[in-house]
Parts: sequence; structure tokens; C-alpha cells
Amino acid sequence: MPKIAIPTALRRYAGEQAFVTVEGTTIKDALASMTAQYPDLLKHLFDASGKLRSFVNVYVNDEDIRYQQQDDTLISEDDDIAIIPSIAGGAASEAELRAASAPDLSKEEIARYSRHLIMPEVGMEGQRKLKAASILLIGTGGLGSPLGLYLAAAGVGRLGLVDFDVVDHSNLQRQIIHGTKDVGRPKIESAKDRLNDINPYVQIDTHEFALRAENALDIVKDYDIVIDGTDNFQTRYLANDASVLLGKPNVYGSIFRFDGQASVFHPAAGGPCYRCLYPEPPPPGLVPSCAEGGVLGILPGIIGVIQATEAVKLIIGQGEPLIGRLLLFDALKMKFKELKLRKNPDCPLCGENATIKELIDYDQFCGITPPAPEVKTASADDWEITPTQLKARLERGDKLTIIDVREVHEWQICNLEHHGSTLIPLGEFPSRVSELNPDEEIVLQCKLGGRSAKAYNVLKEAGFTNILNLKGGIIAWADEVDATMAKY
Ligand SMILES: [Zn+2]
Repeated sequence: MPKIAIPTALRRYAGEQAFVTVEGTTIKDALASMTAQYPDLLKHLFDASGKLRSFVNVYVNDEDIRYQQQDDTLISEDDDIAIIPSIAGGAASEAELRAASAPDLSKEEIARYSRHLIMPEVGMEGQRKLKAASILLIGTGGLGSPLGLYLAAAGVGRLGLVDFDVVDHSNLQRQIIHGTKDVGRPKIESAKDRLNDINPYVQIDTHEFALRAENALDIVKDYDIVIDGTDNFQTRYLANDASVLLGKPNVYGSIFRFDGQASVFHPAAGGPCYRCLYPEPPPPGLVPSCAEGGVLGILPGIIGVIQATEAVKLIIGQGEPLIGRLLLFDALKMKFKELKLRKNPDCPLCGENATIKELIDYDQFCGITPPAPEVKTASADDWEITPTQLKARLERGDKLTIIDVREVHEWQICNLEHHGSTLIPLGEFPSRVSELNPDEEIVLQCKLGGRSAKAYNVLKEAGFTNILNLKGGIIAWADEVDATMAKY
């Protein structure tokens, strides 16, 4: 008996099967036989008058039935029959399929979205697609703030938020989804409250933990589009890999000081992925993060809004997406530039002979795994010292050499100079190791403990054995030991 191939988006209505065996000698009979077995498919494939929906194409042996005898196209047992939903704008076919059966907009929603509804490019159909769509926002920080605010306001039906951080005073310069009253609250709660206030018709799903290789596929699979609003390479590669493995578009943005980048990675629509652009992360310490290098507070607003625009275009299937293009923004010159991005045929993730079939250890891939157990001297924790322990040892009169690996402008905000600390920025650290005495006990310190962990590895490799990393950095020192110290 003939079989019909069911697209991923519709399998949930066909008992999760990739193929349905049918009876009949024409397409009409075959489709009737299929919907008799799986009645839920009816409303997704046919409109109220019983006609195949315009975005549903049926192919027999790679030929569209519209160019054969349509419904009456004859079929036999050996024919390959497939239902192919159109992929508007290269993405979000699932949303499009759901939009067809999505509930209409309420009177309140129509009033709310009226400026969209009178645009021919959006209209009622586009707004229903937005309502049927779901987007996963990774991070509710600088980029996540404008993304969340505008996507909720635009009426994207379901927004998933991933974050595990707590709102800090130093976030408020750019993370405009959070307010001063939210300092100390989990970002995810603060963001959810704000988004619910902007648009109560949007469903906000919260994932209050870090996105990891262990949980990423499980989370990403429930969304149409992934938006990367992170500032670290581990999560960036993880978001890219999970999106590619699941065939979802990944709307990318990154920011640093006055420079921003944006693109849409979507191999399933023929475009490149982040690994085509950057096969490997830079060595740790080479590219400073925003916490280390700073960012103009307005910049994530610009880049985040570009990402939000791309996501909305993908959903409503309008315009030309940033697939295969890297948009560069320079706020100092106030200039945009565009680079063509090519798909790398040898990409280990999306290339013809891809070798990456599952998620990997991204901490290790990005070289930021804390010192490996074999290079440590004793127990698992003995490479770190807490601020309280450090204070006790200094008060006891222990001779410790404190090395601060931050930048000079950070040193000017706060430092441990009165405890004899010396500044050697991480970038200069490898070439200045000779200034340090391996016979002394050295305590490495930065802002939060990450950069000093990198310096720790440099010293370990140089043969130093008596080293400690200040856990949580100078910020933890300010929190635990010295409340008068300025934090940033
Ligand atoms: Zn690729």
C-alpha cells in the first residue's frame, strides 16, 4: 500500500509517525484515507471548504500535484508521496501550520495590535502567526531586555526565558527590562513581571538555570526560534549546536564596547551556522567579555532590536532575513556594514560530512574548564581560597603575594593595594610570569574569579605549585569582608 511522508511539524497529529500507510489510487483517496486514520490532521491540511491549505504542497515523486492532475493524480504503491509545508522566509513552518488552526484574535487583541493589523505585510494573518509562534530567549540581560520587551509587545504568543542570574546594580545601565526595585531578585522573575505587564496575552515560560549540554535539546525543541542573547562563548556554541541539530533558526547578536554584530544562522534553510563563521572559540583571555571589557549601555538596545526584527520577519515570512549575512555596527562611527557569510562545506556541524551529532562539553571546548584535577595538588577545592579565609590568613600575618589580573581602570574602582596587591592585567600575564617568585605563596584575584582562574592555569603550566585563586574575586571580597568597598 502507498505511504505518505509526514513532515516533522505535523507528526504530532499523526501518532508521531514519519510515514502513514494509506489506501487508494488517487491523491484524493490517499489523503482521505490518511485523515480517516488521523482526524487531527484535517484542520491542519484543509480549510473550512475542504480545500488543501495554500501553504501545504503535496508531492508525488518530487513533482508538485498542482502541476499534475491535482487531487486526481494517480498513485501506485511504489510512488513517494510527501506533504511539504511551505517554509516562509526560510523558517517557522511549524508556527505557520499552527497559525492556520490558531484561535482568532480577541477584540482586545485586535485593538492592541491595530498598528500591525493595518499593515499589509502583517495583517490579521501575520498577527495570528505571531500569536502561534514561540521564541526561546537565552539570557535576560543586555540583549534579552529589548528582545523581551519588543517581542512581548509585538504579540509573540509564547516566550521562553533562560537565566539563572540575580539583578545587580551594575546591570541597570543596559538591562532595561529590570528596575532598581528588582535589585537582588532573580532576573527571570523580574523579566516575567515586566513582560506580563507589557502584554498579558503572551505566555512567559521560565527556565531558571544555565543552558547546558545536558538540558539544551530538551528546552530548545519546544520553540520555533532561538535567540542568542548571551555574552559567553560556551553558551553561544551550545545555542548554535542545539539549534542546528534541531533544525531551528538561531538569531545571533553580540556586543562589545561600541561594536555590535547580528546574523541569522539557519542551515535548515540553506544558510551557514555560527561554526561556519567561527569554527573554534578564541583562546581564553584573548577576547574580553562585557564584564571585563565593558559595553556602551545603549548598544544592546540597538543590536537586540535588530534581532527582534529578524525574529518577527521569520515568523510572518516577510522580507529578506539576515541568513548568510553578518551585519556589523560601529556606534562610534555610526555605521553599518554587511559581510557575506558562506556556508562552510566542511563545517563539522552543518557541513556535508558533519561529525558533530550531539552536544559536547562546551566548557572544555572553550578552554575555560577550571584547572583539571591532575594539575591540582590535593583535594578538589584546595585551588581556591574564599575572601573570609584570605582575610583570616592576612590578619594572621601569613606572607601572601596577591596578584590582581584585572585591567587598570577596574583597579581604579577598587583594589586590595593596602594588602600588598600588585596589578598584572591578564593580557600581559603570560609575558610577565618571570616577575613572580615560585617560592612565594601567590593569591590570584580578578573581578569574579574567572580571569584569575585562567591566570592560575598559566602559572600551573609554568611550574608554580603554591597558588590560590580568590573565589568570587574582589566582588566576593566586597560582599563578604569589606562592605565599604565600591562594587561595579
Ligand atoms: Zn556550519
